[in-house]
Amino acid sequence: MSRPLVRAELFLAALLAAPALRAGDLGSEVRFGSRRGAQFRVSAASGPRIVYDSGPSDPPEEDWDTVLIQGELPDPSVRFSAARSGAPGVWVELEGKRFPGGRFWAKGRFPRGSGALRLRATGDGVKAEHEVTLYGVEVFADVPDAPTVPENPPPRGPMDPDARPPLLHGRAEWKALPPTSPIPPDPLPWRVTLHHSDGRRTASLAESLEETRFIQDFHQNGRKWYDIAYHYAVDSLGNVIEGRPLETLGAHTLGVNEGNVGIVLFGRYHAPTNDAATPAQLAALGELGRFLVRRFGVEPVSLKGHRDYGTTDCPGDLAYLKLPELRRAVALPPTAIMTAPDWDAQNARTSAASPSAAR
Ligand SMILES: [Zn+2]
Repeated sequence: MSRPLVRAELFLAALLAAPALRAGDLGSEVRFGSRRGAQFRVSAASGPRIVYDSGPSDPPEEDWDTVLIQGELPDPSVRFSAARSGAPGVWVELEGKRFPGGRFWAKGRFPRGSGALRLRATGDGVKAEHEVTLYGVEVFADVPDAPTVPENPPPRGPMDPDARPPLLHGRAEWKALPPTSPIPPDPLPWRVTLHHSDGRRTASLAESLEETRFIQDFHQNGRKWYDIAYHYAVDSLGNVIEGRPLETLGAHTLGVNEGNVGIVLFGRYHAPTNDAATPAQLAALGELGRFLVRRFGVEPVSLKGHRDYGTTDCPGDLAYLKLPELRRAVALPPTAIMTAPDWDAQNARTSAASPSAAR
């Protein structure tokens, strides 16, 4: 099929599928006194009471009608509600989903308007003292985004249809649900964007598979996207997990999803959490990147961070700083990687520390 036909088809698909195009990390992150997220302890008590009150947030920059939170909620008897400054007596209960183990998201709707957000948690019959974590609090206006405008890809290197991806933990392994709607095709990526999940840093393959299933639910039902936004997830052990199918349009970078493979790292790679990418994780990213370079002729310079395209801290300072090293790694053939002194040392440490990272 000729290029113009592919472009026209993609453009039509994009017009028909606006909801799939909305970016990860959309909306405005809400901060309380310049702090992102929140963590608080809840003590055991019978009967209903307020266990957390955020006070008013820093004022969000734009009008909003939706609040969306995600974190860890060990005890389901703790529930969240939200209010907006200007209407302080009106508390909206947040509804969502809590997974076994406590990973949860919750959402509430307001009339569209401006104003600071205030969050409150109430407990009713909390049995044991525990800690609640909010990884992310966002507000946004739930309106369809403008469709992506098709772009002409830059020149690419040679493509190798026989290039094989690294060992992947596929969708069946994390019990993926099907997309809620067919995802438009995006057959010839020319760029790769790195994200962090701003969520749980997983410590085993089982946790990573659970986290992938959580993020799919958060994206499909919290954000109303067709599927998990990203094409791949890479955990701290170096496991690579399949997200939405490669060669379908991603939903991870607002306005620039076309031709863009989204890769997410589980964890929070910025202050105050400051998760650091592990050698096993960087090695897996390098292997995945080399596959994309080989398979599609992606230029290593086209490996970027989410923040290169929009107003977000994603993928966090600590992951963003690794991009120059990753660009060099994906440009090298695997044999050269194995003999590079720093990677060699890292790989040795990784294999010793983490058997599951060995490939
Ligand atoms: Zn991102």
